[in-house]
Parts: sequence; C-alpha cells; structure tokens
Amino acid sequence: MNFKVPRGTQDILPSESWKWQQVESIIREVCDMYRYKEIRTPIFEQTEVFLRTVGDTTDIVTKEMYTFTDRGNRSMTLRPEGTAPVVRSFVENKMFGYPDQPVKLYYQGPMFRYERQQAGRYRQFVQFGVEAIGSADPAIDVEVISLAMEVYKRAGLKDIKLVLNSLGDIESRNAHKNALVAHFTPSIGEFCKDCQSRLEKNPLRILDCKVDHKNPLMATAPSLTDYLNEESKTYFDQVKSYLDDVGIGYELDPNLVRGLDYYNHTAFEIMSTSDGFGAITTLCGGGRYNGLAEELGGPAAPGIGFGMSIERLLLAMDAEGKSFKQESELDVYIVTLDTPAHRKGFKLLNEFRSAGIRADMDYMDRKMKAQMKSADRFNAKLVIVIGEDEVNGNVVQLKNMGDGSQEQVSDENIIETIKEQLK
Ligand code: ATP
Ligand code: MG
Repeated sequence: MNFKVPRGTQDILPSESWKWQQVESIIREVCDMYRYKEIRTPIFEQTEVFLRTVGDTTDIVTKEMYTFTDRGNRSMTLRPEGTAPVVRSFVENKMFGYPDQPVKLYYQGPMFRYERQQAGRYRQFVQFGVEAIGSADPAIDVEVISLAMEVYKRAGLKDIKLVLNSLGDIESRNAHKNALVAHFTPSIGEFCKDCQSRLEKNPLRILDCKVDHKNPLMATAPSLTDYLNEESKTYFDQVKSYLDDVGIGYELDPNLVRGLDYYNHTAFEIMSTSDGFGAITTLCGGGRYNGLAEELGGPAAPGIGFGMSIERLLLAMDAEGKSFKQESELDVYIVTLDTPAHRKGFKLLNEFRSAGIRADMDYMDRKMKAQMKSADRFNAKLVIVIGEDEVNGNVVQLKNMGDGSQEQVSDENIIETIKEQLK
C-alpha cells in the first residue's frame, strides 16, 4: 500500500516551513503596527454560516465546499474562507458593543475548497486575512488595502498592482442587475449552465465566470460604474482620494466582481505582474461587506477585509526571484569522541539550551569527521570537541567556524565564552 498526500494538498517540509514562519512573522509585525488583533475560529462551522453569506450562486457554495454530516446529524462545512466565521464570531461575542470601534481583527489558517488542482490553487491552503468591522469610513478601506500592500512589500515583492472597483450599494446594484438581465437574456443559450442559472439568481456572477469569460458579450456588458448612484460614487471617490493621499497607485476594472456575494462598494484585488507568474495572478482579494453582520443575526455593522493565501505570496516571491535570508540553524554543535565524552557533551548540551544557546549533538555514534560534516551542514557558528583528555581535564575545545580560531576553555567558563563569541 502506497500512501500519498491527498490531491490538492501538500506537506510543507522543513526545507520550506522556515519560509512560512518568515511570512507569519511579517504578518504579525504588520498587524501589530496597524493594531489588528488575532482571532482564531474553528476550522469547521455550521454549513448555514457559509450558505447565508458567501452566496448560493458562487463557485464556493455550488461546487467547492467540504460539507459533511456529523454524528449528531448536523451539516458542517470545513471553512472555505475566513470572513463569514469572523463575522459570525463578531456577532456571537457581541463585539459590536466593544468601546473601540471598528473592531480590527486578523486571522491566519487553513481553508478548504474542492478545486481542480493547478499552480496556486489547492484544496487546502493557508489564508491570512483581516477584517475591520463597525466603520463605514472610506479611510478604513484604504487602511486595509495598505496593510495588505505592506505585507507584500516586506516580503520583497515589487511587481504587484492594485485593481479596484466599486460594486455600489443595493440600489445601484439593482439598477445594474436589470441592465445585465436585459443584456444577456437574448443570447443566454450560448452560455454555460451555471451562467444560465446565474441570470435569474445573480446575473453579476456571470461576469466572474471562468468558462465563458471570452464570450464577446462579456466585454460589452453594462458596467456597474455607469449605474452607481450619487452616494456610491461619492464613497468611491473618497476611497480613491485616500489612496492618492497615501501614494498607492491603482488600476480601475469595472468587471472586478470578486468570488463572494456579500461585497458592496469597494472591491479590490492585488495581482502579481511578474513575468514568471503562472496563469493565476491574483494574490489577494477583498472588499466591503456592509450587510454581512445583519445576515448573521447581528446589528448593522459595516465591514471591510481581505484574504490572501500564503501559497500565492510564496509563488510570487519565486516568480520575482526574491527569497528570505536563511539564518544559521545552530550556535553550537558538540562533537564527542567516546562514551564518557558523549555523557559530558549531553550534560553541557542541556545547560547550553537552558542558557538560550541553540545547540545540538550527534546521536548516531558516528566518527568525528561525520560529526564535523553535520556541524557544517547546520551552519553551526561554534563547534565544541570533547575527547578523553577534555573529560579528564574538565575542559572543552572550542572552535569558531567563522574565523577558524580554536581555544581550550574550562567547563566553568564555557557558557560565558560562547556568549562572548556569539556577540
Ligand atoms: P479565484 O478567482 O482565484 O478562484 P477567489 O475569488 O475564489 O479566487 P477569494 O475567495 O477572494 O478568491 O480568496 C482570496 C484569496 O485567497 C485569493 O486571492 C488567493 O490568494 C487565495 N485563494 C483562493 N483560493 C485558493 C486556492 N484554492 N489555493 C490557494 N489560494 C487560494
Ligand atoms: Mg475560487
């Protein structure tokens, strides 16, 4: 029997996981800078949480959810995205009553979608996202966008662009919806089955179709921009001028509608423009969702957020040839030549670690040469050698791999000497 990782998932091996940790620390630093606090919600939710919010004509709900019935006969779903669970928690925990509004949250963790696997598209992927809930100030839209841009900037990415649209408010969307129905109805027979059902339920979704996106009627479809009412236009103009104020450039795309139903007003994506990047160029998607808290049984609480996957961030870094600096794995590697030396080495090893020195030693009873090679591979800054003489004399040989110097150090002074040399 040959076991394999499930299709669409991946093992993140030690040769890669250190990069994930680097991204995670960037995320923590940037969120801290913007005063966004971490929230951790369960990996599964009642299915209804996603049905009510994500929308029953979206790809996510129609074909991508991992839904199962638990032993109590309840329908549960592995979370396909982070916003609905966070807003569910916001409502359940009455965060709308917190003295400081908006409530600014971030999350990071695995999401699950039953997708066709391809580069940048997995069935389990890790999404980092933020949500600012409780304010309808256009400045907070720009704060959220700028937070995402800052994460990419700190990862070293240069070839990225912000693409922006406004979906307007309900009134604008309804006016646009009627225009879309009129536009597509005569030729709806040319479109896929999904689009045919979207025409009735949510014609805006047609513009996001991945099957029919080349149909000429897509390009000539009525643009939402032309249907924005005064209020929506003003809101959008304010977002744009705040972006100008903070020096974030953008491209307008009137067909940007995003995969989820709950967005209104601001919708945005951050895309990679790097030549090396594959077919999927969206790194991050987000937008405003003013009706979501009410949809989940709470009071009106306008929100804005985004989600980005770490997988695509790392792919974009590869495409741009950017990498994190890999630090030395070890401060000290202890080489021992016989059993008494091994005992002494093991005792020192534990003292070093308690003193905050990153240390390791051989557990395979190998020859000195093989142990030295390990020290090299671990990029150890210092190597300690212990043989019979060192055991008898209560000393060790300390070798500095940086400058090649070597000295004999007494057991009492070894920690102090190591710390001195590591400075
Ligand atoms: P797409 O059009 O690529 O399917 P989407 O509209 O489904 O995207 P969102 O639901 O907005 O995407 O997710 C936000 C972000 O999450 C994406 O920009 C991307 O970084 C990431 N993402 C979404 N689906 C996947 C996936 N299957 N694998 C890896 N990352 C993903
Ligand atoms: Mg998708």
